[in-house]
Amino acid sequence: MNPLGMVAGALPVLDPWRCNLCGWCIAICPTECLQISRLGPWLARPLDCLACAACAQVCPEKALHMDEFTVEDPPPSDSQTSQEHPDPIAH
Ligand code: SF4
Ligand code: SF4
Repeated sequence: MNPLGMVAGALPVLDPWRCNLCGWCIAICPTECLQISRLGPWLARPLDCLACAACAQVCPEKALHMDEFTVEDPPPSDSQTSQEHPDPIAH
């Protein structure tokens, strides 16, 4: 659940080939649910995402887009996302 008590209907998805690691998307996110690694931003806490699309709109490289999902095709949980993302410090 995000702070509004709602599950967002869309989440940002990164095209890592476009990202220049400027960090603007991290800075503008109102819930600080994005974190940055050497590969670019990743959604560390997807349940906190408001689907506001501010991160995608501010990106100068159009490296982020909002991917809609349905209840039948839910996003991964916070713990699943954290386990699947590579540790940026370990590499
Ligand atoms: S859609 Fe909004 S809340 Fe979600 S990661 Fe982007 S800026 Fe943050
Ligand atoms: S704003 Fe765009 S280019 Fe900058 S770090 Fe975020 S995704 Fe990468």
